[in-house]
Amino acid sequence: MRLFIALDLPDEPLAALSAVMDRLPGDIRRVPEENLHLTLAFLGETSQEMTQAAHEGLDTIRAPHFDLTLNGATVYGGRHGQAVALEAEGEAPLHELHDRIRARLRGAGLQLERRRFRPHVTLARLPGRADPGPALAALCAVTIPPFPVHSFSLVQSTLHDNGPLYDTLARYPLG
Ligand code: ATP
Ligand code: MG
Repeated sequence: MRLFIALDLPDEPLAALSAVMDRLPGDIRRVPEENLHLTLAFLGETSQEMTQAAHEGLDTIRAPHFDLTLNGATVYGGRHGQAVALEAEGEAPLHELHDRIRARLRGAGLQLERRRFRPHVTLARLPGRADPGPALAALCAVTIPPFPVHSFSLVQSTLHDNGPLYDTLARYPLG
């Protein structure tokens, strides 16, 4: 199964963001509110056995809860599609959690890609040729107060033509 680790975000700020993206015209494909997340690690295709090992490792993490701030809007991607996202401020607890998760997953025997961690929440997707200007402008007008995050999750992603379906397999509380 296709797996990733997500930081769980509270409803309030995400409902506000979702409403903003919803009002945008054109080719924009808003990420459904229940799918909004911040990816902490991407495991990709994973066997049952490795999934269990990953879960056991993640379950031992004792990390504090923290406040998250979402900053300016950005666009990832290019010709094959663009993702409109909000960047998360590079706060120490977020990066420490990310490092601990990676260490536990590696300890469980998983191989992880070595990419720079650029924490973000993807809000919408656009075709590669679309002008991301209106989406970015709409997001400039929104300010979200910092909010607390209390858990992260092991999530299964099943890709469908009309978008991915995410299923939370396990949730890990932050103290
Ligand atoms: P879709 O691929 O259909 O647009 P999606 O990107 O939300 O949907 P997945 O591709 O299953 O669904 O990815 C799940 C999460 O993992 C997303 O947040 C995605 O950005 C992230 N992700 C996917 N591939 C990688 C990768 N190679 N490295 C890091 N993160 C990734
Ligand atoms: Mg994807």
